[in-house]
Amino acid sequence: MVFNSTDHSFAKKMDLEDPLKNYRSKFVINNPNEIYLNGNSLGPLPIKTKEKLEDVINKEWGERLVRSWQEGWFELSEKVAGKIAKIIGAKEDEVVVSDSTSVNLYKLVYAALAHQKGRTKVVSDEFNFPSDLYVLQGIVDQHFSDHNLELIKSNDQVTIDIEDVEKSIDENTALVILSHVCFKSSFFYNIKEVTKLAHEKGALVLWDLSHSAGVVDFDLNEADVDLAIGCTYKYLNSGPGAPAYLFVKKELQEKLQMPIWGWFAHENPFEFSLEFTPVKGMKKFQVGTPPIISLSAIDASVDLILDAGIENIRRKSVLQTDYLIFLAQKILLPLGFKLFSPTDNKRRGSHVAFVKEDAYSIAQTIKYNSNDTSVIFDFRKPGIIRLSVNPLYNTYEELWKTVNIIEHLVINGGYKTNEEINGVT
Ligand SMILES: *Cc1c(COP(=O)(O)O)cnc(C)c1O
Repeated sequence: MVFNSTDHSFAKKMDLEDPLKNYRSKFVINNPNEIYLNGNSLGPLPIKTKEKLEDVINKEWGERLVRSWQEGWFELSEKVAGKIAKIIGAKEDEVVVSDSTSVNLYKLVYAALAHQKGRTKVVSDEFNFPSDLYVLQGIVDQHFSDHNLELIKSNDQVTIDIEDVEKSIDENTALVILSHVCFKSSFFYNIKEVTKLAHEKGALVLWDLSHSAGVVDFDLNEADVDLAIGCTYKYLNSGPGAPAYLFVKKELQEKLQMPIWGWFAHENPFEFSLEFTPVKGMKKFQVGTPPIISLSAIDASVDLILDAGIENIRRKSVLQTDYLIFLAQKILLPLGFKLFSPTDNKRRGSHVAFVKEDAYSIAQTIKYNSNDTSVIFDFRKPGIIRLSVNPLYNTYEELWKTVNIIEHLVINGGYKTNEEINGVT
């Protein structure tokens, strides 16, 4: 869609015609004058999730106590995995929900490198999430010291060229680990294209879906992906520290060995045998007792996404980020902001980044000092602000207001300088 109006009325019209407009009322909204564009860090709270958590705490835990394990808790992890499988285009017996994203990355990278014996190159990129890179460095340093971790570089700080990906992967590459949507610039890889490149050289591929699942449509099975991980507290709206998920393609499940042998990976955990025998299938990628409370939050939250339909969500996300970029091009770029995300929406996730030297002051002032409307968004060094749209929650009018608030602040001044803010904190 080509936008041609920066009028307030146009934003309102877009909201009226939005097929997903009813979903906003399914979230807890404490202050309608607070615009929340930070769902790429912590998704907002669905009302159903709040109710579900109250029920889990009061009834399942408070009243039923240990009996609840027999009344649904044991099956909860598989039930939730089945729902996430639908969102990421996997079969339900290819997904497990457990631990954090970083821990799941450790489990799968260790298993994949041990399986790919003889190949000593590990490929990632300089856009990957720092925690992911730390985990990779640790594994190579402590367990695979003859391996090399090579990071594909960006030529423009915003995108990665597919030719550079192709050049990095060779016959010695064991594993390629990339974030599907990169956390800083929102650059978005074509999963199918990169997976194919890796397979042609005999390498395995692991995708981190943390910044894409729930807001981008893709199909892991269709792209023949080997391994994937992702978190549930960003666009899956499942609350702080809710457990992450991991995916292993069916044909790899028996070939890979788990580096952590916990009792939930045992073929018969309640026999309390002193010898470890792994269970068959995906369950062996679990470790210990699942966090039932936050697992229940995922169970409730992802229903909203499944109900709205991931393709519809992606369609609105593209429209909203295109609209935001259109407004910024008309209003913010002339004021000194630079777009720090791909303009092509096929190369972009659900957040848009802009860069300006004094972005930190702008972000802080708008977050805390606004009289009527405040906007919560994210700042990253050096001078990058990220505005994230959650299509089930955010309106076009909120995007319009945000751009206008930033415009007025920059034109009228009145925001604290970096020095003033640093002096205070
Ligand atoms: C958010 C995020 C993580 C977070 O990892 P945790 O172990 O849950 O803290 C990891 N990788 C990527 C790409 C992320 O966006």
